[in-house]
Amino acid sequence: DMFSKSTNDAESASWKKGEPVPYAALCQTFEQIEDTTKRLQILDYLVKFLISVIKLSPESLLTVIYLSINKLCPEYEGLELGIGESLLLKAIAESTGREMKKIKADYAEIGDLGVIAMNSRSNQPTMFKPKALTIPHVFKTLKDIASLTGNSSQKQKVDKIKLMLVSCRNKEAKYLMRSLEGKLRIGLAERTVVVALAQAIVLSRPDIKKMSKEKLQVELEQAASVVKSVYSELPCYDLIVPALLKGDIDGLKEACKLTPGIPLKPMLAHPTKALTDILDRFENIAFTCEYKYDGERAQIHKLEDGSMRIYSRNSENMSTKYPDVMERLGKFAKPNTTSFVLDCEAVAWDREQKCILPFQVLSTRKRKDVKEEDIKVQVCIFTFDLLYLNGESLLREPLAKRRELLLDHFNEVDGEFAFAKSMNSKQIEDIQIFLDQSVTDNCEGLMVKTLNGTEATYEPSKRSRNWLKVKKDYLAGVGDSIDLVVIGAYVGRGKRTGVYGGYLLACYDPDREEYQSICKIGTGFSEQDLEDHHKDLKEHVIPEPKSYYMLGEGNKPDVWFAPVRVWEIKCADLSVSPVYKAAVGIVDPNKGISLRFPRFIRLRDDKTPENATSSEQIAEMYNDQKLNTVKNDTSMGVD
Ligand code: ATP
Repeated sequence: DMFSKSTNDAESASWKKGEPVPYAALCQTFEQIEDTTKRLQILDYLVKFLISVIKLSPESLLTVIYLSINKLCPEYEGLELGIGESLLLKAIAESTGREMKKIKADYAEIGDLGVIAMNSRSNQPTMFKPKALTIPHVFKTLKDIASLTGNSSQKQKVDKIKLMLVSCRNKEAKYLMRSLEGKLRIGLAERTVVVALAQAIVLSRPDIKKMSKEKLQVELEQAASVVKSVYSELPCYDLIVPALLKGDIDGLKEACKLTPGIPLKPMLAHPTKALTDILDRFENIAFTCEYKYDGERAQIHKLEDGSMRIYSRNSENMSTKYPDVMERLGKFAKPNTTSFVLDCEAVAWDREQKCILPFQVLSTRKRKDVKEEDIKVQVCIFTFDLLYLNGESLLREPLAKRRELLLDHFNEVDGEFAFAKSMNSKQIEDIQIFLDQSVTDNCEGLMVKTLNGTEATYEPSKRSRNWLKVKKDYLAGVGDSIDLVVIGAYVGRGKRTGVYGGYLLACYDPDREEYQSICKIGTGFSEQDLEDHHKDLKEHVIPEPKSYYMLGEGNKPDVWFAPVRVWEIKCADLSVSPVYKAAVGIVDPNKGISLRFPRFIRLRDDKTPENATSSEQIAEMYNDQKLNTVKNDTSMGVD
């Protein structure tokens, strides 16, 4: 019996040249990947599968990549999976004829909708064998489901899911459900997919057989690094995959470059603890200090056709949030600029007092479909970088050059558009004065950036040490803030009756696709905050914790939430904890890291839960903190 089952699996997972790739083949690869934790093994399984796809059905390669990272389109198009579990439960019940009560009971016990769908199926007698699912069909249906809106969309979604479910064989239902839910959880990180794609392209080349092992290894590594860097500049598989298929790796660099209209992942900064860190880091390097404005990151694009767009830190199109800014954009560039990409911060602005307003004021603006006549909060754009100008990418130019071009090609407009305030002195006294001044001007502190040479290029998506952030609070010893996901809450008592009294928070591990518990929080909330959070989060209550919540003994809030909200938190310090699971396995094999004295600062609606502070960052913060204590101890010893 076992034997015949496995031959069936293999049969349904193989296909002939020119045929659409069977969904079973992808699921078989997913299963292999899920069954191991070895990174190289995971990469190897995926590379082998991608080579078959390239050989037999190259036109499916793009869809296979999307399904492997569980996305439907580039991020900026904003179409997402993440179907609510009540709909999925309904689809399982209706397609299998099982009672909802039983399915819910299973769900409470097993916690994995994928497994439940798979098990429910095998209980069904099959009258006839429906046609096997193919990759193009599954992908198109997923896209259709995600695009459905309006009144009857719920029912239509359930119907489409049901139709696919009845065609599922073996493990397919499991992965289909997880795709729909928005989390595959097989331990396949997007960066592994990118590396696998690059390697599969190289290994599909006819000349590869003659190559020495060493040479091949070099080729594979180079290819991976090229594809990674191209992707951070042009995060769009729709363009990258066809270019790879056509012209391999060298062709890719030529064909795929930063393009206005496609937001690139912004460069990020490294935190520092004190002004002296800056001098340590930049001892013999030219650097500049800029105000760190406290608003919302805005990437402004002008396309060759003259149209303009504003994108968020997350690559979301924000043009409908800022119709007022959109209207004025035309004035800011000098007439000789045909296309550009600007990196900026949008900041709330008081027109009467002519001054910057705190972030809290900006956050009262609606996020979507804003009507100009309803706008109460004015915005000024502070620009600090120019990444593209008149058909040319400037990413590899040093900041000094980019800044010169920025100043040459744009005009400041009072209260609407300004260059980030900057100062180039290397004297710590001057930097201190500039920092104090930034705080007086309602900024968050300073950004300190390298100016010249290859150390001052723009590094998309990297948290680079060539950009250091100095926040005013570090100096009070509080440390950098952390962005965490709200996964549960405790019922409020006493003064907090009727709202939640405290919350359970988690960080995100992108490799394991897991939210790991990190602390409880009950301070920092105003009464208004408590009411707002309660009203908002009660809409996101789920009956059981998600199977991808990594929880410690005793992490049992009264209600659970779907991972939807990100909060900025400050704390006194980080400590190893037997109760929480953040960064478990990095600092200690079994224990996680927890925050001591966490305090709520604000809602981060410009970050998705997957952009929350990562387990790796938490571990790094913990280690930095230990390092600093050691440093302080020795210096005391020496004194
Ligand atoms: P993360 O916590 O992931 O680093 P964040 O969004 O919390 O990201 P910070 O690290 O605090 O941001 O600081 C970087 C952000 O500061 C940028 O994303 C940008 O929005 C803002 N910013 C303000 N002024 C500047 C400036 N002069 N140069 C670069 N970034 C600036």
